[in-house]
Amino acid sequence: MPDSTIKQQTFSFLKGGGEMGRLMRNKDWSESTVGTPDSWPQSLRTTLGIILNSKFPMFLWWGSELICFYNDAYRPSLGENGKHPFILGMPAKDAWPEIWDIIKPLIDQVLAGGEATWMEDQLIPIFRNGKIEDVYWTFSYSPVNNESGYVSGVLVTCTETTENVMIRHKLEESKNKLEFAIEAARLGTWEYNPANNKFISNDRLKEWFGLSHEAEIDLQHATDAIAEKDRQRVIELIQKALDPASGGQYDVEYTIIHPIIKKETIVHAKGKAWFNEENIAYRFNGTLEDVTEEVTARKKVEQSEEKFRSMVVNSPVAKAILRGQDHIIDVANKTILENLWRKTESEVVGKKIIDVFPELRYQKNLEFLDEVFTSGEPHTEKEFKLHLHDANGPTQFYVDFKYSPLREIDGNISGVMITANDVTAQVEARHIIEENEKRLNIVIEASGLGIWELDLKTNEVNYSDRYLEILGYKGKVSLTHEQLLRHLHPKDLHLREKAFKEALVSGVLHYETRIIWLDNSIHWLEGMGKVFYDDQNKPLRMIGTIRDITDEKNYQQELQQREQRFRLLANSMPQHIWTSDIEGNSTYVSDSLCNYTGLTSTDFKNDWSQIVHPDDQERNMSEWTKAVSAKQIFLAENRLRRYDGEYKWHLSRAVPQLDNNGSVQMWVGTSTDIHDIKQNEQLKDDFIKMASHELKTPVTTIRGYVQLLMEMYKNGNDPILANSLSSVDKHISKLTKLITDLLDVTKIETGSLHLAKENFKINKLIEEIIKDIQITTSTHWIIFKPDTDASVFADRDRISQVLINLLINAIKYSPQAKEVIIKTRLTKEEIVVSIQDFGIGIDVDDHEKIFERFYRVQGKNEKTYPGFGIGLFIVKEIISNHQGKIWVESEKGKGSIFYFGLPATGY
Ligand code: ADP
Repeated sequence: MPDSTIKQQTFSFLKGGGEMGRLMRNKDWSESTVGTPDSWPQSLRTTLGIILNSKFPMFLWWGSELICFYNDAYRPSLGENGKHPFILGMPAKDAWPEIWDIIKPLIDQVLAGGEATWMEDQLIPIFRNGKIEDVYWTFSYSPVNNESGYVSGVLVTCTETTENVMIRHKLEESKNKLEFAIEAARLGTWEYNPANNKFISNDRLKEWFGLSHEAEIDLQHATDAIAEKDRQRVIELIQKALDPASGGQYDVEYTIIHPIIKKETIVHAKGKAWFNEENIAYRFNGTLEDVTEEVTARKKVEQSEEKFRSMVVNSPVAKAILRGQDHIIDVANKTILENLWRKTESEVVGKKIIDVFPELRYQKNLEFLDEVFTSGEPHTEKEFKLHLHDANGPTQFYVDFKYSPLREIDGNISGVMITANDVTAQVEARHIIEENEKRLNIVIEASGLGIWELDLKTNEVNYSDRYLEILGYKGKVSLTHEQLLRHLHPKDLHLREKAFKEALVSGVLHYETRIIWLDNSIHWLEGMGKVFYDDQNKPLRMIGTIRDITDEKNYQQELQQREQRFRLLANSMPQHIWTSDIEGNSTYVSDSLCNYTGLTSTDFKNDWSQIVHPDDQERNMSEWTKAVSAKQIFLAENRLRRYDGEYKWHLSRAVPQLDNNGSVQMWVGTSTDIHDIKQNEQLKDDFIKMASHELKTPVTTIRGYVQLLMEMYKNGNDPILANSLSSVDKHISKLTKLITDLLDVTKIETGSLHLAKENFKINKLIEEIIKDIQITTSTHWIIFKPDTDASVFADRDRISQVLINLLINAIKYSPQAKEVIIKTRLTKEEIVVSIQDFGIGIDVDDHEKIFERFYRVQGKNEKTYPGFGIGLFIVKEIISNHQGKIWVESEKGKGSIFYFGLPATGY
């Protein structure tokens, strides 16, 4: 059996006891003053037995040296690297030197037979964990008596409360801190017990409410001090906070009025109600903060803010306030809304400016606003061209505006104030003035006017470059008024002086004068000006222009000379020369006409027709009207009355003078005395009439005889006689035709060409005539190309005469050609017959004239063709009398096509 087993058996009081039991058992006690366990008295043994088996920390000092014993429960209090385990069996004085002073008196007190002691949370620092630590203990020192009844040991029942004490200290500290904070923040604290309606608070709060220093008061006492205006609201909020549905939160600002000194304090109350499991509020507490100053300051800010807003709103100048970096429109006054933005308040307020005016994206304004908002520097623009869109589309404005930063009390920029002034009208008016000035300058420059300004008091003169140019200077020179006046032609000086004198009275200056350039050349100028007066109506200055009118003057002179020459020429001519305006009013008549009529030129002014023979007036008028409407030459043969009342035939001709647009400017006319010619013509006509009449009967008789003779000798064998008779017949035929033609002319002249109209097929007539003519010609082949089978209503014989004349001419004037082509065709309402030859052709100038009486084309070739020039005249008259037309298409050397058209009657 090992030793220990023996000891354990021996010292049953040391049995168990955990680590400490084992240590005690194994310890060599022989050196100790308490001796080995076997010598230990029963009281010690019993006590140790209790200690070792207790789970409560215990310690025992025993004997005269106060030898230390302790149990496992006590052991942790000794920490690591401390007194454990070597203080077991050590005298107390050696084991606890660091606290010996503290515990010695307590031990002594117990040893001296005193009562057991009880100490709570006593600080007894001990050496453990390698250092002296502050350790708190709650302990009891109780005496342990020995068998003889004397105290021989001190039992320490203890528990370490370091942690509790620490927590308590911390709690206290935090409470202190809280109180300090409450104190520092000048907070009032309160607590309300809903169960008994009692209200407690700190002193400060009581002071504010004017409450007595009683610990508890009824809630109502407290609410009495709340200002009337707030009271009900606060009570309702308290009730609300006590309602679990509200979550128990309480946050309100109100005014309290001290019941005695009537001091007003604005407080901010915050609190929370606590609810038990049945959802009944058991506690409601919180704080109260004096916010009087803050609220007053805030109100002041609000008031000044309000003042500022109302200043903006009521300003007659367009103003708006934008807030934040997004430039949200906060305030916009009536002026800006109506005059510039053209929007209602609800359309803009609360919106970002960019959302209201997206068009600003393309303008500089946003940039400016950002800049002002970030830099705090105001931005000003003058006459800024701004485009804003409203319901009617984009509008352009010119605006003077300022963007000013708005600062809060803390200096931060919270927005931008816009101050704008719509100056569109001014700018546009100025633009117009500038434009007008520009135009005026252009006009002045273009007109070549020289400008001058004369100070009538100092005689100081200002002038433009052009002014100097007109006076003959090439570059800029500085001249005095006197120097300038020296350029005036001495003979014209009086003109200018007179004009200036008059101007001072009338206010308007106008004169023309000659000037002498430095090179002695003479020029003309026209001066114009206006006088400006001072308040006393005294002439102050004159502003005017000068114009170089040298060319005009020269031209005028030249014109006058030309006019003189023309009059001389006109008056020296036997013909009457006259001009008239577009209405036909006479503007000039030559002397010869005045002499002839015995009238003055003014007599002609309005009534030219007074000198026209009454029988000729109607024809004259219709010719004139025709010429005026066609703007073509007027031609008429009239009898004009001579001064003695006699009428003489005149050929009047007037040519219209057209301008570039083709409008008639004037008519230039001549009237030539054709009285003698007329009379000769009449004689000739009378002679022809008489001759052809007288010739007709003998020629017809001769022809009858010739044809009789031809009939008689047609079968004879005298060829000479037969040929002679045939030749005589041919010539007599020609002569007959000539006489018939001449008689026709006479008929035409006297208007006695009668038509016997009937319906007949034109093609048939043409075929008959071709047949007759073809027999007489062997040189030409007449080709007929009909294209219609229409009938005409006409005089068959006269149309035959037309066809024969045209066909004979076609053959006669195309000796080199082989054929003549005759065609018919139907147009809308006419039958057109054309006779085409490939002969000598007719010059365009003669196309009209060939249809005149006795007109023959004069040329070296034409002379060889026999004729009188009356065939086409008769043809034309016949066709005209049928209301038809005749015309020719021809070119010299290229043949001719004669056309005539007759009204068609059917097929
Ligand atoms: P004439 O007796 O001279 O032929 P007309 O009155 O028949 O008289 O013709 C007038 C003039 O017209 C002629 O002298 C001739 O110069 C010209 N003329 C007429 N027909 C033709 C034609 N087919 N080709 C060329 N010239 C013609």
